[in-house]
Amino acid sequence: MAAAEGIADGTFERAFAFIGAGGHHAGRDYFGGYCCYNDVVIAIAHLRATRGIRRFAILDTDAHHGDGTRDLTEQDPAVLHVCICGASYTSPDGTKVDVPLPAALWRGTGDPDALYIETAEAAFAERAAAFRPDLTVWYFGFDGHRGDYGDMGLSARCFLGLADLACRVADEASGGRLLTVLGGGSRTDLATALIPPVIERLGRRLAEA
Ligand SMILES: [Zn+2]
Ligand SMILES: [Zn+2]
Repeated sequence: MAAAEGIADGTFERAFAFIGAGGHHAGRDYFGGYCCYNDVVIAIAHLRATRGIRRFAILDTDAHHGDGTRDLTEQDPAVLHVCICGASYTSPDGTKVDVPLPAALWRGTGDPDALYIETAEAAFAERAAAFRPDLTVWYFGFDGHRGDYGDMGLSARCFLGLADLACRVADEASGGRLLTVLGGGSRTDLATALIPPVIERLGRRLAEA
């Protein structure tokens, strides 16, 4: 909440919410996958109620489908939810999107980091720019890292690239306002290796990147 409020109030432009539990599997009347409360959707409701901010674009790069976030925003055309989960779906109004990953990623015949970043960019960048959100949200799960429970063969390079992508999209689409919320991932060693450099990357101006 404090991170979302700080961005909405202009205290800072980007924030990283270091949340030790998941959020995107918590729906209207259920929870699962260690997600008790849907942090992102609660932040959206809070900003709408207290700051009058209406439009939100969410990039969900957790390895799994954000079913709770989808459930809570399904009837809400002012939330763009782009979920890189391997499914293939676009809602009639185009604001709810599930994105398949290239076969080469699963076959291991290409560079998984590059394939993943290209997929996320193609699915999210233009859509978010056209959507004109007040705030861009990156739901940053690292469970798709090699060796974690959603293993997609990804490495640290992928998540640093996604941080750059999220910053670039937020700069173009939402006046720089970017809230990053920690999602899935279970390995302490990966968290220790990944999270500080991602935060460092989010702290840079794009010209320095
Ligand atoms: Zn996950
Ligand atoms: Zn999905």
